[in-house]
Amino acid sequence: MAGEKKKKIVKVIKIDTDKCNGCRACEVACAIFHSKPQYSGNNPAKSRIAVLRDPIKDIFVPVYAGEYTASECTGRNKYVIDGREFDECDWCKASCPSRSLFKEPDSGLPLKCDMCESDPPLEEPMCVQWCLSDALTYEEREVEVDEKEEEKKKPGEMELGLESLVDKYGMEKLLDAIARMSRGD
Ligand code: SF4
Ligand code: SF4
Repeated sequence: MAGEKKKKIVKVIKIDTDKCNGCRACEVACAIFHSKPQYSGNNPAKSRIAVLRDPIKDIFVPVYAGEYTASECTGRNKYVIDGREFDECDWCKASCPSRSLFKEPDSGLPLKCDMCESDPPLEEPMCVQWCLSDALTYEEREVEVDEKEEEKKKPGEMELGLESLVDKYGMEKLLDAIARMSRGD
């Protein structure tokens, strides 16, 4: 049954692939902003945006990290653009067991774009600020959402993290590690 409607601000980053030159400044800016402690590292493998690059064909497509999914797609469609063949995985924004993209390299935990949520808030996400080609532009839109549906929607960050650790190390090892930690070994 439908619940109460409420207004919500949706943050949107528009991507103009024609303006992207593949410089990867967005990846570095994201990695620096999300390093722990903040600004202490710049490993693009920890970024929540990845730029698909084919400099010879002048094809550059920034892809944002979306939700973690445990399911691996069974289909493998191919896209041909300007004579170059792309696997559909190239465009996919999910962190999934089939590939290392959008996984924190040390822990294996899934990475997801959080629109640079921070306190105090940024005027614009870091990747947008550092895209000097204006390939990325930030917008806020007000939309109406169903309150009940919103609550039901997604599993929490902790569940996603645990799921990913189980995938990487197996349940037995994870339980052993938790038992050791609780004993203080
Ligand atoms: S910073 Fe902008 S131009 Fe550079 S790779 Fe990222 S989206 Fe493309
Ligand atoms: S919006 Fe923030 S978290 Fe998302 S990719 Fe850009 S810099 Fe990273």
